[in-house]
Amino acid sequence: MGSLGDANNKKPWVETPLHESPTLSRAAGCRIFLKLENLQPSGSFKSRGIGNLVLTEAAYHKAIGSTRPLHFFASSAGNAGLAAVSATSALGYTSTVVVPTTTEESIVEKLKVNGASEVIAHGPTLLEADLYLKEVAMPRAEARGEIPIYVSPFDNEAIWDGAATMVEEIHRQMPDGEAPDAIVCSVGGGGLLAGLANGMERVGWGSEVQLLAVETKGADSLYQSWQAGQLVTISGITSIATSLGVVRVCQRAFDLLARKNVTSLVLEDAEAAMGCWRLADDERIIVEPACGVSVALAYDDRLRQVLRPFDKNKKVVIVVCGGSKISVDALVQYKAQYAERARELAAQWAGMSG
Ligand SMILES: *Cc1c(COP(=O)(O)O)cnc(C)c1O
Repeated sequence: MGSLGDANNKKPWVETPLHESPTLSRAAGCRIFLKLENLQPSGSFKSRGIGNLVLTEAAYHKAIGSTRPLHFFASSAGNAGLAAVSATSALGYTSTVVVPTTTEESIVEKLKVNGASEVIAHGPTLLEADLYLKEVAMPRAEARGEIPIYVSPFDNEAIWDGAATMVEEIHRQMPDGEAPDAIVCSVGGGGLLAGLANGMERVGWGSEVQLLAVETKGADSLYQSWQAGQLVTISGITSIATSLGVVRVCQRAFDLLARKNVTSLVLEDAEAAMGCWRLADDERIIVEPACGVSVALAYDDRLRQVLRPFDKNKKVVIVVCGGSKISVDALVQYKAQYAERARELAAQWAGMSG
């Protein structure tokens, strides 16, 4: 059983609805349940893992009798940064986010609005921003008498324990207390996948429930590692699903591929984009392509092909992981750019049925 921070602190994430979607169920040909993590305070499931990391650190420093103030540090212009600042501000702690100088002003503004104490733009890429954070900003905080704490986005036990709470909720929320046949999630660094696997063990679904781990082509570091039979670092990220853009997954995620019930899948950017615009049309929910790629599995016979055995009574939970880097303009542009390719791919999936 993992630890869940400090029981005295309120949790900086919320219990989200599990919505059985008639429209997506019709499209998929089986029962589709959407776990609505887009409703987390930070706009993505990362509120759970990063929230639990903040709680766990706070509990630890309280237990060892630290009196110096805690100061949390994250280098992310994306959902991890948003989750870090929203969790720390909800719990009353200071936070600094370092982002590359190329980061749009609207994102810097969003980090501030969501509670960042300080946003520093430094260096051409996230690598330089992260180095600056660790080598300059954190030592400075230490010199000021604070306790600097690094918020890692996915490779940490506390992150996985936080994400695992999602499965405990699903376990309570499934109708008639039945287990789903499969859970679908997106994979960047693999923190969500690792957390779901931990949660499945906790509720006794360790081997009976299939776990479908989805990436986009061009951000497929888990799939490439699976193909190579070892953990590999891919040469770069070429996908529009930037929140999945981690060149090397965590060891824990790679190790999970050895399990019979874990499957790694790759779809194209056009499919990730299609998942976004169809979810907007069918459920009036707007998410990033990083999330759309999981939703895409509900459309055009994809589940029929990847979930075996398949029939209309199968119950599939799709983690709607959310994400803030999306707008109506971006959706419109994705549709113009990818609709034709999405139609071609839909025809290919349908052609595989027989
Ligand atoms: C971070 C993120 C992911 C990937 O999560 P990992 O734990 O890095 O695998 C997927 N979708 C969204 C919206 C994210 O923010």
